[in-house]
Amino acid sequence: MPPQLVAGGPRVLLRRLREIMAERQSAQARLDKLVTVVASNMVAEVCSIYLRRAGGELELFATEGLNREAVHRTRLKPGEGLVGLVAENAAPLNLSNASEHPSFSYRPETGEDPYRSFLAVPIVRGERVFGVLTVQNRTARHYEEEEEEALATIAMVLAEVVAQGTLVDLSELDETELSPTKPALLQGEGLSEGLAIGTVFLHEPRVKVERMIADDPAAELRRLEDALEALSISVDAMLESPELELTGDTREVIEAYRLFANDQGWRQRLMDAVRSGLTAEAAVERVQDETRARISRTGDAYLRERLHDFEDLARRLVRHLAKSDGQSEALPDQAVVVARAMGPAELLDYGRNRIAGLVVEEATQTSHIAIVARSMSVPLIGGVEGIADLARSGDAVVVDAENGEVRIRPPKEVINVYRGKQALLAQRVAQFAAIRDEPAVTLDGVRVSLNMNAGLLLDLPHLADSGADGIGLFRTELQFLIGAKMPRLADQIALYRQVLDAAGGKPVVFRTLDLGGDKIPSYSRTVREENPAMGWRAIRIALDRPGLLRYQLRALITAADGRSLRVMLPMIAEVDEFERARALIRKELDRAGRVGLKLPQDLQLGAMLEVPSLVFGLEQMLSSADFISLGSNDLLQFAFASDRTNPNVARRYDTLSPTVLNLLRHIATTAQAVKRMPSISVCGEIAGRPLEAMALVGLGFTSLSMQASTIGPVKMMIRELDTRLLRPMLLELCRSRAKSIRAALAEFAERRKVPIGRG
Ligand code: PEP
Ligand code: MG
Repeated sequence: MPPQLVAGGPRVLLRRLREIMAERQSAQARLDKLVTVVASNMVAEVCSIYLRRAGGELELFATEGLNREAVHRTRLKPGEGLVGLVAENAAPLNLSNASEHPSFSYRPETGEDPYRSFLAVPIVRGERVFGVLTVQNRTARHYEEEEEEALATIAMVLAEVVAQGTLVDLSELDETELSPTKPALLQGEGLSEGLAIGTVFLHEPRVKVERMIADDPAAELRRLEDALEALSISVDAMLESPELELTGDTREVIEAYRLFANDQGWRQRLMDAVRSGLTAEAAVERVQDETRARISRTGDAYLRERLHDFEDLARRLVRHLAKSDGQSEALPDQAVVVARAMGPAELLDYGRNRIAGLVVEEATQTSHIAIVARSMSVPLIGGVEGIADLARSGDAVVVDAENGEVRIRPPKEVINVYRGKQALLAQRVAQFAAIRDEPAVTLDGVRVSLNMNAGLLLDLPHLADSGADGIGLFRTELQFLIGAKMPRLADQIALYRQVLDAAGGKPVVFRTLDLGGDKIPSYSRTVREENPAMGWRAIRIALDRPGLLRYQLRALITAADGRSLRVMLPMIAEVDEFERARALIRKELDRAGRVGLKLPQDLQLGAMLEVPSLVFGLEQMLSSADFISLGSNDLLQFAFASDRTNPNVARRYDTLSPTVLNLLRHIATTAQAVKRMPSISVCGEIAGRPLEAMALVGLGFTSLSMQASTIGPVKMMIRELDTRLLRPMLLELCRSRAKSIRAALAEFAERRKVPIGRG
């Protein structure tokens, strides 16, 4: 009979472990006893504990079954051997024949030759891997799932004891370096605009789990059920709260969050963990650790986003278990909340107008937290690695979302500089407001159309406050990315209708779904691609799965309800793709006619110019499409073979280099030759940067689309620009051999008093 977990199951074992930990003996004696008990309970011939020393080496701390002399002698380098692999991946390993595994490393001093089967789990607490717990047997067998579960539970209890520092002196173990008093400048990405000067408030540093093992598992299960019920009620209450007044995208985000709160799989895993003998709090932590490990192994950005929702829920659940509202500490004035990760509901918990800024390590453009922060108008910087370890509650902090910079504990003089900037910003906002309703016309009379990019309902109010001429790029995929499930036809119609209503006759360019690449909805199956940006995305998906595009066109035609409609196709690489998509649109228009829908009074169809091949098919494209929009973000990443999402290369080439200038000039002159120039607009990031926009206007581009907040600064630049002076200089710079022409253009702007300062 194969050996199995026996003797009363994990509960008995956990009780026994608790007794051992409470014994008055040396730490080594307790560890020795622990491995013996685990080995005998799991009917394993070997049980060993490896802990991570400072420097990352894994040291054998205790063993039952291997040679005792190897204890404190056997050390494995980070990643070395099977044990190193488990620590590195923070994931269990279950092998029936360990020596066949490519990572197996033989250590003669341990005497482990006779043991073939091998089960190891990481000893993890939160984000930190303390070590590895293993069991081994002579027979080549595969350990059962319950055995793996049991070992993981033991490892978790062990992690807790190690973290308390009573077993091993923590200073001897691997520890992140902290330097809590020095000023620090950290770089991240501005995800919600603004500048905040305030005081750090560390978000929920971790709810401390005091008790790991339940005295009465049945009662514990009831506690968990009560807390889950209270959690559901509190999320419902948040949706109904008159004070929060959740609308639009924030509401959608919280509705998705509610689905997670009621996720049966999550609830079941929690209950199973309690049934195995853990307290409810420990069960939450255990399930969270597993979810985190599982998701980080996939490396999928969107799954990681879902993880933040689960983390938020887990923390909220633990607060319900403790029957606290979680806001016990008072927020300082001008609080800047710093978090490793934060969910959307947690941000709402802080309440509107109570925080001045936010810094979240794991937040990206499309994070739920970013969406809610923008709707609350709270400046947010994401992707700031290590800040939660570096900052302390009460530290002075500056959050400059424009530059993606966070300064912790800055000297007074630096704070004063930012105060000056804040005052200037307020002044500039007033100046932009003053020219909001004035046209963007250069000194020599060139009229430039300034439009905004949008994608969510919360962008719409900016149409009026920015003075945009229209929406030059509506990214329809965002609706698909923020929800927990695929938007139905009715949802799509509702969104497009609201956009057209809000635009009130101003032109809106709807870009059809630009999904794929790094934009994968949480509910769709992910297919790993080696080069996702160049993979199966955008128009390629649309042509291979025409149903999706037709469905979207149906929604657009219905929402237009007889009004004008502008539709743009992303990632067109050759004219044929455009024509095939156009045929689908004709079919959809025919269908609309047959079912008696009101047809759009006119339907213009455009293509995005963002794949370099199309530059060489531009003349044909210009005579086919009604308009073209130059997506410089993608066009430049492909032209320079430089991944826009990879920080090591994203800023390697200047967007104001002679090469870029020549590329843009070629596009402009080709378009002028076909006499279609007014129909090429630019909608990538460069359109919203005054200096780049100056070059674009100088080359002859007269339609730009950008983030709403940059319309003011760009318009201010245009109104002081004389293209007759700039143009000859640009043509000259096209011949330059310099890496960048930025300085030359800035010098021109300064000399000619063209304002190019941002925000
Ligand atoms: C672009 O590529 O420039 C563009 C505007 O599209 P997106 O940034 O959505 O890829
Ligand atoms: Mg693009």
